[in-house]
Amino acid sequence: MKNLKFLVLEGDGIGPEIVKASINVLQAALKKFDMSVDLIYEDIGFVSLKKHKTTFRQEILKIGEECDGIILGTCSHNDYPPTNEGGLNPSGVIRKYFDLYANVRPAKNRLGKSTKFPMGIDCIVMRENTEGFYSDRNMYQGVGELMPTKDCAISIRNITRKGSTRIAEIGFKYAQERRKKLVAIHKANVLRFSDGLFLECAREVSKKYPDVEYKEQIVDSMSALIIRDPSVFDVILATNLFGDNLSDAASEIAGGLGLAESINAGDDYCIAQAQHGSAPDIAGKNIANPVSLIGSTAMLLDWLGKKNNEEKLKKISTMIENAIDKTVINKETRTPDIGGKLSTTEFTKKLIENLGI
Ligand code: ATP
Repeated sequence: MKNLKFLVLEGDGIGPEIVKASINVLQAALKKFDMSVDLIYEDIGFVSLKKHKTTFRQEILKIGEECDGIILGTCSHNDYPPTNEGGLNPSGVIRKYFDLYANVRPAKNRLGKSTKFPMGIDCIVMRENTEGFYSDRNMYQGVGELMPTKDCAISIRNITRKGSTRIAEIGFKYAQERRKKLVAIHKANVLRFSDGLFLECAREVSKKYPDVEYKEQIVDSMSALIIRDPSVFDVILATNLFGDNLSDAASEIAGGLGLAESINAGDDYCIAQAQHGSAPDIAGKNIANPVSLIGSTAMLLDWLGKKNNEEKLKKISTMIENAIDKTVINKETRTPDIGGKLSTTEFTKKLIENLGI
């Protein structure tokens, strides 16, 4: 098997800390299988703004094309200057360029039985990632948000047959490998055309997967149901904004954002990216929980393993996920966000000790 090659983008806030931890774990895990990884580091975010007058240089995309995937840290894009002053949201640009339409966001209990949610959670929010209400990336040209006057703002939400069908396809594929249940989230009683189309596509795809139980749920009642009993959900199929909201709820039920891993995947490309933002309140303190990005990196390896039929990569991914479980289940080896005392670096060291074939 050829050496892996990843583009590494640290970003802002806790980005550099959790990226460093993830790379250390990745290298240690690969070493156990006599493998290594070539890493290309590029600046993004505020570091890049200072050096290059933009938070994201377009040539980074070309560099990414030459790599097997990207490990993306967190970005404080809400604090960036306007686009015409160099403030580009790296995550949005990358997702659009590589057409990463599937944001796969698992939420599962890793801390043992929760007193608040004793029934547990083990689900995946399959969030459409390229259209919907995400006005910074949902148009071919221009943005999907405008202000005709200073007292009126309009946001355009676009839902397409292609976008809805392909996210449904991947949702059903995941469901088939899991507990064979999928629920499509919508507000078609109000958004009759757009969510009507989304549901039409999901229903059509569901016919190809008769072994997967298909249900539909209105987004507001879903917010109540996921809190009432999260254990009943397997794959939660959602448009961009609904998926974003519900996945935060799901990860909070599972133990918190610090554990929330995810990938952004298309047909040909995939990146590892934690579900959370740049957590500026804890940046630079060496207390961030790196599990979110370590787990995302494991997901990236699994995605590559499946795509290229490389058993070894799937095994390395499982090894990392198992080491995460083994480390965080122990109350003595947790970071502060989940009730522990370990620093990011101490935690990472423990996790590496727990890597075992
Ligand atoms: P941004 O503006 O970049 O979205 P934010 O602080 O508004 O940042 P998040 O970064 O998602 O939003 O963080 C929300 C809360 O969760 C913060 O209190 C943050 O410290 C905490 N948090 C997020 N990620 C982690 C992590 N990996 N480890 C520990 N705490 C985290």
